[in-house]
Amino acid sequence: MSVSTIRSDRYGSLIVVSGPSGAGKSTVCRALREVFPPLHFSVSCTTRAPRAGEVDGEDYHFVSPEEFLRQRDAGEFLEWAEVHANWYGTLREEVEERVFGGTDVLLDIDVQGARQVRESLLNTDLGTLTTFVFFGPPSLPELEKRLRGRGTETEEAIIRRLTNAREEMVAWAEYDFLVVNETVAVAVRELSAILVATHCAVERSDQGWDL
Ligand code: ADP
Ligand code: 5GP
Repeated sequence: MSVSTIRSDRYGSLIVVSGPSGAGKSTVCRALREVFPPLHFSVSCTTRAPRAGEVDGEDYHFVSPEEFLRQRDAGEFLEWAEVHANWYGTLREEVEERVFGGTDVLLDIDVQGARQVRESLLNTDLGTLTTFVFFGPPSLPELEKRLRGRGTETEEAIIRRLTNAREEMVAWAEYDFLVVNETVAVAVRELSAILVATHCAVERSDQGWDL
């Protein structure tokens, strides 16, 4: 299939969202699903331990390091990275067939993972259907407040995530869109608008009017 056969109504969009831990990605993406119920959230594999309330197979596939390495070596990941001292990976099967089948798919992955996706999808059909969104907090102090307020990390993990946030936050200019999560309602509206706009891209349409 060549890019010229792509029509905006036939294929889904792949939305890649990255931003520092605690910015509110999960909260806003969860709310977005209520606006767009068919939107599929790619379920990543991770070696991190589940947080209270997280469900295996829904929030993540929680796997052992041995299983993660087996999946990686079998080529099952579209991308993978070590993030905050754990491994995370996106399963190919979560993405490709769904997008080409007409479903919108959202990836919540870190900056290194987004770079890998950008590189591997360069000049591909899936790349044409992919949009990168950087999701940031209003400020670093607010990020710390949210991370602490969530109450899911040890002090050591909070400090590691805040240290990493400074590095991640300089990557915003690599993305197509920037959402600053001041309020959940506005961030959901902005992300919805981006998703709708991807379907209107001229690049994805090959059929004009019958004139
Ligand atoms: P991430 O998925 O980016 O790590 P979360 O969605 O877990 O972040 O959000 C971190 C914390 O911040 C949660 O306790 C969440 O309820 C809170 N939060 C998210 N968005 C906002 C916002 N706009 N204003 C205030 N608190 C927020
Ligand atoms: P958390 O442990 O808070 O759920 O996620 C920590 C970080 O890992 C976040 O920045 C999140 O975007 C990232 N992440 C989650 N899944 C994946 C994945 O499959 N690949 C990559 N590269 N990062 C991921």
